[in-house]
Amino acid sequence: MPQECIFCKIATKEIPVAALYEDEHMVVFPDINPVAPIHVLVIPKKHIANLLELSPEDASLVGHIVFTISQLAPQLGIAEDGFRLVVNTKDNGGQTVHHLHWHVLGGRFMTWPPG
Ligand code: AMP
Repeated sequence: MPQECIFCKIATKEIPVAALYEDEHMVVFPDINPVAPIHVLVIPKKHIANLLELSPEDASLVGHIVFTISQLAPQLGIAEDGFRLVVNTKDNGGQTVHHLHWHVLGGRFMTWPPG
């Protein structure tokens, strides 16, 4: 784990967050700077810098994370009206924290295209 990775510190609880869900592989917590009424982040506990750094052995981890997001949608209150799942990747994707994460955005209509 890179020493300065803020999401690794959240995964190890060095930085406390109000986790909405946690299991041995992943943590779900509110984004500190929400851009929608519902804006949570979903991280693997394993440090992976971005989608391009996934290895074949991570495929089941990614499946577990995406499936779990689908199962959490009702309790997040976003299943009925829908939501957007975003993985910003490297500079052109707007990634600022270099630990793979999914943004779950809901509670309002999302425009397209994104900025
Ligand atoms: P990205 O720009 O896709 O890399 O997204 C990084 C996200 O992490 C941003 O939406 C930040 O608001 C969020 N963020 C950064 N630090 C924290 C933190 N300590 N707790 C919760 N969210 C954070």
